[in-house]
Order: sequence, then C-alpha cells, then structure tokens
Amino acid sequence: MLARCYAERWPLRTAFVISRGARTEAEVVVVEVKWGGIVGIGECTPYARYGESPDSVMHQLEPLLSELAAGLDKAQLQSRLQAGAARNALDCALVDWERKYKGDGFAGPDSLPTVQTLVIESPEAMADAASVAVSQGVEVLKLKLDDQLVSERVAAVRAAAPATELVIDANEAWRSDGLIERCEKLAEMGVAMLEQPLPASDDEFLEAFPHPLPICADESCHTRADLPRLKGRYEMVNIKLDKAGGITEARALADQAVAEGFGLMLGCMLCTSRAIRAAWPLGPRARYLDLDGPTWLAKDAEPPLRFGAGRVYWS
Ligand SMILES: [Mg+2]
Repeated sequence: MLARCYAERWPLRTAFVISRGARTEAEVVVVEVKWGGIVGIGECTPYARYGESPDSVMHQLEPLLSELAAGLDKAQLQSRLQAGAARNALDCALVDWERKYKGDGFAGPDSLPTVQTLVIESPEAMADAASVAVSQGVEVLKLKLDDQLVSERVAAVRAAAPATELVIDANEAWRSDGLIERCEKLAEMGVAMLEQPLPASDDEFLEAFPHPLPICADESCHTRADLPRLKGRYEMVNIKLDKAGGITEARALADQAVAEGFGLMLGCMLCTSRAIRAAWPLGPRARYLDLDGPTWLAKDAEPPLRFGAGRVYWS
C-alpha cells in the first residue's frame, strides 16, 4: 500500500470566534492511501489545545506511512500511534479505502440533523445570527460563549429563537466560582445542555452539585480511557474523531460510553466535508450532532456535503 500526507489551508467565510480565540482558516492534514487502483482518503484537524500542529502531525505520520508498504494494518495502527489527529487521518484513510474496495456506498442514513453553531459576538449579533438560522429551519443552536455576558447573550438568542433548542459550549472558559448558580439560571432559561464549562483539570468540581441540566465532556473526553474519570461528573460525552484518533476508537468509545450510561454527542473541528463523511456512521447514535464545520469554509473540499434546514445531506 502506498501512502502520502500533506497539509491544506481552507480559508473561512467569516471568523470563527470561541473562548480560546479566533480562527480565520481551517488547517487540516490529509492522508491518501492507494492499493489496487483504489485511493482511500482521511483528513484530520491538528489542534493546538492538544499540542498538535500540521507539522507535528505530519512528523508523526511519516514513519507510519512507510510501514504501510511493509503491511501495517488498521489494527496495528491503534497501538502504534497515540489517540489524536495523526492517527485519525490514517485510520480514516484505511477505512475509506476498505469501504471503496468492498464497493460499499456509505454506512448510515442519507441525511443527519446538525446543530448550527453561533460564535461569540455581541448579544445583538448573536441574536441576529440566531434569527437567520431559525428562518432557515435550524432546530438546535449551539452557542459558543466565554466568561463574559453569559446571561445577556443567552437571553438575546432565546428571545430571537423562542422555540429552538439551545445548547452552550464554554470551551473550558468558566470557573467553579459561581458555576452552580450559572447552571441553575441556564436551566431556568431553557438551555438543554452545557458543554465543557470548566477546564478539564477542574472536572472534580462537577461532582459537587446536582446538575440542573446535562453537562457534556468535550475537552475532557478523548477515548475510552477517559470514561472512568468522567463518571459522576458528566452526563454526556462529545465524541470527535480527531480526539479519539479515528473512527475505529470512536466507535468503541461510543459503545462503552452508552453502556456506562452517558449520552452521546458527535462533534467535529473546523474541517472539510471529508471529515464529516468519516464520522457519518456514528451519526444515528448521537443525541446531539455538531457537524457544521464545513459550513464555516469559504469553499469546501470536493465533493461537498450539502447543508440546509438544520440537516446535512450525504449527496
Ligand atoms: Mg466543544
């Protein structure tokens, strides 16, 4: 099997602002594997929060790509690379190759629901973005928030979208001080779920109070190995292929998380449609799907998925 990897930059149509900072492009690494005239493609998004960059990921991948020629397979890959973006791209390329080799179309339904993300802006601008999304048929809005103007932003969006399900992602920006009161207020405002309010290192505090709304681990949950630490602290886990290190571990994580009573969210990084297609088989299992990464791109990879009315369509 021949393989190569390369980095790509995809400019965004508008800045993507979350508590951790603003981004104006998606930087991805692509792996292509080729054998028997069939090419399998996998994509990952290296994430600085987890110590990754396109260079570090390519550096991790290069020795593995030459081992493919010597017969390295998907099962061996799981122990040769740690969970993360590099293993994700290679695992997904191998799975994509296998799917095409067997002649399978794709695994899963022809469309999936997805939340629409609202990035951090003024309360008025977030309300405007919410109105636009609701008029387009979006049924679940995910608000990115930092530690400022929390109730103002939620109230503005709630007023603009009174019948829409709201979930919040704080990306570790909140502190334990005041968290209990804030959760109670959000539950009163009808917020359906809160993603990763505290830094992963402060998870223990989440044991200290009954949760008035479900709390979902994102930065705190990468693989099955994290689940024991999350019990009694989170009700849900956000599964992302880039964190799990591929669809192989992501499937196993989904199985174990459900068996242990966690609800599932399926998420993505800023990515092209290639990454969403790779995660597709997990879609029907998730309570919340956050697959709108490609909608932030000025231009998507070919063939793009189609997004509309709160759903994403395979073709
Ligand atoms: Mg998140």
